[in-house]
Amino acid sequence: MLKNVKCAKCVKCGKEYPATPDVTTCECGGILDIVYDYDYIKSRLTKEKLAARKDLTMWRYRELLPIEEETENTPLRVGNTPLYEEPRLAEMLGLGHLYVKDDGLNPTSSLKDRASAMAVAKAKEAGKDIIACSSTGNAASSLAGNAAAAGMKTYIFVPSRAPKGKVAQLLTFGATVVSVQGNYEETFELSSKAIDRWGWYNRNAAVNPYLSEGKKTVSLEICEQLQWKAPDYIAVAVGDGCTIGGVWKGLKDLYAIGFIDKLPRLISCQAEGCCPLNRAIEEKAPWHPMEENTLADSIAVGVPRNPDKALQAIEESHGLVVNVSDAEIMAAQKLLGSVCGLFGEPAGVTGTAGVKKLCEMGVLGKDDTVVTMISGNGLKDVENAIKAAGAPISCPNDMESLLKAFAANNVDAK
Ligand SMILES: *Cc1c(COP(=O)(O)O)cnc(C)c1O
Ligand SMILES: [Zn+2]
Repeated sequence: MLKNVKCAKCVKCGKEYPATPDVTTCECGGILDIVYDYDYIKSRLTKEKLAARKDLTMWRYRELLPIEEETENTPLRVGNTPLYEEPRLAEMLGLGHLYVKDDGLNPTSSLKDRASAMAVAKAKEAGKDIIACSSTGNAASSLAGNAAAAGMKTYIFVPSRAPKGKVAQLLTFGATVVSVQGNYEETFELSSKAIDRWGWYNRNAAVNPYLSEGKKTVSLEICEQLQWKAPDYIAVAVGDGCTIGGVWKGLKDLYAIGFIDKLPRLISCQAEGCCPLNRAIEEKAPWHPMEENTLADSIAVGVPRNPDKALQAIEESHGLVVNVSDAEIMAAQKLLGSVCGLFGEPAGVTGTAGVKKLCEMGVLGKDDTVVTMISGNGLKDVENAIKAAGAPISCPNDMESLLKAFAANNVDAK
């Protein structure tokens, strides 16, 4: 029994279930949300207590997480990623204050580690030692890595088009990787059938309510790193919607226990070629599937798996939505790299691309403090990074040629 949790409640119909480690979805098909006992948490956790804590991983927020007191930390160091203030970039964009949270520095190089570490901890509590999921990339590689470190086996289902870098991570982490001859929808179906048949622990984003509880640690960290002074806005790249749902949950938790005294507004950033959730908000209509037409593979999600938590998060926070083109994503990648020395994959910089666009539109400006997150590392997808960054100067190995090459490329070497 979790002492800090009341129940798992359906976000669609409100039905409540006991928060067992392997609870999945509601009988109505809705995804569940973990409901906490904030009075209990307030009696156990204070800012001073947290400040004195030596554990710098995501597990430092135990009182706010749905795990048993005796459940051990997962082995990889998930969390404790840097939050950089970027005054020069803020100046360039015309923003008051800009902070960038580099979550690409997690162990398998994406924010998904926060959810996968949670899945590993819950699988242990459920007494399972095999975990499975279907995914095209970061969810899978983070699960494979975090499970390997905990001595657990993984079965991963990926569509045959999955990007090589991410498949390399999967195989290196020792997952059994099934490359399904079909699209993502079909891959998901096959994984569900296999999970039913063999009874593996299910880390599918559509099903497991604990994943967004892991992801929420990113907003807990952001607020702690800002000395509990919540920013005006937090920009999030949105695919399935689990991340933005988690970010919002973390903020609501901190507000409920009195650690922050205002709630930031969320900025939901999607790719123009695949923005079913933002479109639903813009049109004030139910969401509809879209094609997956963007180079940002991690947010190329035409059928979002966690739409309800995402749409609630945007609405409740009086959030903004913004869609960016692939060209704008590539420009943001180059900008973060060249101004801040930070390297994000295309989906990983989509939040920053959205903020830049909102600055250009005059929606954000001098009075605003904004946090963007880099949700995945640029080395995950080198091909697209090179497209965005341009080619090196090619030169024979003598000084004369170097002078010519510099002149031809307008390089002033002084
Ligand atoms: C998964 C992912 C996202 C989006 O998270 P969702 O929960 O799918 O909305 C954004 N960026 C990166 C790098 C990701 O891997
Ligand atoms: Zn329900």
